[in-house]
Amino acid sequence: MLLKDKVAIITGATRGIGRAIAKRFAQEGCHIAFCGRTRNENMIQVEEELQNLGVKAKGYVADVSNYDSAQAFVAETLKDFGHLDILINNAGITDDAALKRMTEAQWDNVINVNLKSVFCMTKAVQPVLWKQGSGSIVNISSVVGLAGNYNQANYAASKAGIIGLSKAAAKEFGARNIRVNVVAPGFIVTEMTGDIPEQLKTYWQTRIPLRRPGTPEDVANACLYYASELGSYNTGDVMHLCGGMEDA
Ligand code: NAD
Repeated sequence: MLLKDKVAIITGATRGIGRAIAKRFAQEGCHIAFCGRTRNENMIQVEEELQNLGVKAKGYVADVSNYDSAQAFVAETLKDFGHLDILINNAGITDDAALKRMTEAQWDNVINVNLKSVFCMTKAVQPVLWKQGSGSIVNISSVVGLAGNYNQANYAASKAGIIGLSKAAAKEFGARNIRVNVVAPGFIVTEMTGDIPEQLKTYWQTRIPLRRPGTPEDVANACLYYASELGSYNTGDVMHLCGGMEDA
């Protein structure tokens, strides 16, 4: 098992990609602390699904874009799990509009949930990982952060910002054996992308050399590489996980 008795915090794991990461890590023996915005049916289901894989798992209600909430989430995790090895910053939202119509609220909301959250969570775990002299942080960006996209200036900026933050943190934390890497997925089928019209899905798929969208499990495997000893010499990386999409 690649993560036997490690403890991982995964933000936004009540569904989609975060949930797949939690499940994949649990299959490798990792104990999982995860969060969502409310304690809903999904959160309870994920807890049960992970516990059935034989690991300790607990869902927390946290708004990771809020500094104090992120601090409290990490403090509670340490109280409940005893230690911490891995942080996956996965929580994210979209709120699309053309720049000429995008409101300040749309900008602030997406930047706060997608980018400020990574700052808040990194600040919350840093003293713990620093003291123990080990740790792995994986931040979920997007190909949109590398290439831009129509109607997604807020999302593209947030995801590009994650890359800059991660590269800076990789430099600052490297001497303490804390690795910071980025996974930048392309088109992944989840609830978030479920609303995209069929026509647009077809358009995206014709631009993907591997001729299929990605799955949450594809993203989970990439995170597993960086989180485990398989990726022990990687830091400051950006993995393009997009089936070879040409402009990513
Ligand atoms: P999703 O909407 O299915 O899940 C998002 C999760 O984040 C949910 O569990 C939600 O509760 C949580 N969340 C949202 N705001 C939060 C907050 N303020 N505090 C705590 N939790 C919060 O999304 P997904 O498709 O699984 O995407 C996961 C990540 O992958 C996001 O960062 C997204 O930008 C990124 N991504 C997705 C795709 C894709 O095609 N689906 C592609 C590239 C990148």
